[in-house]
Amino acid sequence: MKGNLIIISAPSGTGKSTLLQKVMPRLQGLTFSVSHTTRAPRQGEEDGREYHFVSREAFLGRRDQGGFLEWAEVHGNFYGTSQEEVAARMAQGLDVFLDIDIQGARQVRKAAPDAISIFISPPSWQEQERRLRGRGTDSAETIRLRLANAKAEMAEAGFYDFVVVNDDLETAARLLEAIVLAMRAKNRRHLSGEPLCLPEGQ
Ligand code: ADP
Ligand code: 5GP
Repeated sequence: MKGNLIIISAPSGTGKSTLLQKVMPRLQGLTFSVSHTTRAPRQGEEDGREYHFVSREAFLGRRDQGGFLEWAEVHGNFYGTSQEEVAARMAQGLDVFLDIDIQGARQVRKAAPDAISIFISPPSWQEQERRLRGRGTDSAETIRLRLANAKAEMAEAGFYDFVVVNDDLETAARLLEAIVLAMRAKNRRHLSGEPLCLPEGQ
């Protein structure tokens, strides 16, 4: 049985990581693809958990060997999704969340047209800026760059299958959960003789 790819994108500071942390433990059969990045770890981040933190040379070497399903330069750093890691998890029948930017989303849609895509939107520009500053992990320059890039990112929302507004966290988490469950019900594996395998209670 093969799992599904679920693309999740959002402008920085929208609350995407917070939302995924809330939803992941509630859904069985779901995993998160740990990307490679050349960005420095933030306080509290661990190598191999949030990201594989690698040097620019290591990143470009892996990219040149075709090791990434997609990759992009985002806010001045490189980010990429490991082809091998995603394929292994899907082969186990797990659904895989890809937390990637709009450039990566375009690449994955092309390479894997079955993937579903979800755009997480902040309730307003003001609230996004407040959250980004309130997180307290980024320099003033980094925040300025991320806010400047947010306009182009929001303009891409219409290309996604679903848009979830992260205003109230619990409401957004429930909607995200519902989308994943609806996707599982829609893929109709039972019609081809494979069992649905929906975990109990979902
Ligand atoms: P992203 O991963 O999208 O860059 P984070 O998950 O790091 O964003 O969230 C940015 C900040 O916003 C964090 O301090 C987080 O606690 C806060 N936050 C996330 N979702 C909400 C929400 N629905 N309401 C209020 N604050 C939120
Ligand atoms: P952050 O530095 O805040 O963790 O992430 C910055 C941006 O990079 C976010 O939009 C996030 O979705 C994106 N990102 C994280 N991992 C990947 C990846 O593997 N590929 C691409 N294309 N973008 C990524």
